[in-house]
Amino acid sequence: MLGLGIIKGLVETGRNFVGSYFKPERLVTIQYPEKHLPPVEAARTIPFLVYDGKDSMKGLRCTACTICETECPPKCIYIVKDTVKKPDYLGKMQNQPKVFDIDISVCMGCGICVEVCPFESIKMDQVFELSGSDRFGAMLLHKAQLVKSNDYFGEICHEQATQINAARADDVRKAEAKAKADADAKAKAAAVAVSNAAAGVAAVAASSMTATPGTTQPDSKPAPKAASTSTPLPAPSKPTVPSATP
Ligand code: SF4
Ligand code: SF4
Repeated sequence: MLGLGIIKGLVETGRNFVGSYFKPERLVTIQYPEKHLPPVEAARTIPFLVYDGKDSMKGLRCTACTICETECPPKCIYIVKDTVKKPDYLGKMQNQPKVFDIDISVCMGCGICVEVCPFESIKMDQVFELSGSDRFGAMLLHKAQLVKSNDYFGEICHEQATQINAARADDVRKAEAKAKADADAKAKAAAVAVSNAAAGVAAVAASSMTATPGTTQPDSKPAPKAASTSTPLPAPSKPTVPSATP
């Protein structure tokens, strides 16, 4: 029937209108700004930079790779790489941004920077009361204003943060296992080298002990002459001369 959908919609609106006087959950609006609705996990407004631990600068995940800067459609991210490196969560030295600015008056909240970041270091925030009277000062957020802890990220996006934390903990376990295996291999190689060196020294000592013709050992004594046991031969007898008898 023509217009049936419109009639159904109006009936539902009427039921909610009358019902909201008796059941508060039928209210579809709230008294803003006195009241705020809790945002859903997928809600997004502007990006922020995630850091681990307590120190926002030491724990900053961003490596200043500039992928997000390149991919941002309205080009509202500005990054300058620092010349000094710092250790990442695995202990490897990583680059860090000296400058990381986002012009939130230009940002359209698309979330592409989050999608392309290989280090889980930029995430979308859910704050929305960001109006200001200074177009060029207040709207350009610097690194210190953009950093937020991983705990905060866990509060606004619990599911995502849990998955990322598990993956990073797995990385840490793998890195520790590799470091232990490398240390064991080094210790084994050092032990083999020491044993080979000891065997070489023993071989040299043994060869020097071997008698060489014409050489005299320091503590060798001349062997005593053996006593002769041969019987002396008898003296040859004189030939007898016949006497001349007349
Ligand atoms: S959310 Fe989109 S517009 Fe905003 S900084 Fe990220 S990539 Fe750029
Ligand atoms: S936020 Fe991510 S993509 Fe952007 S520079 Fe930092 S590490 Fe690279």
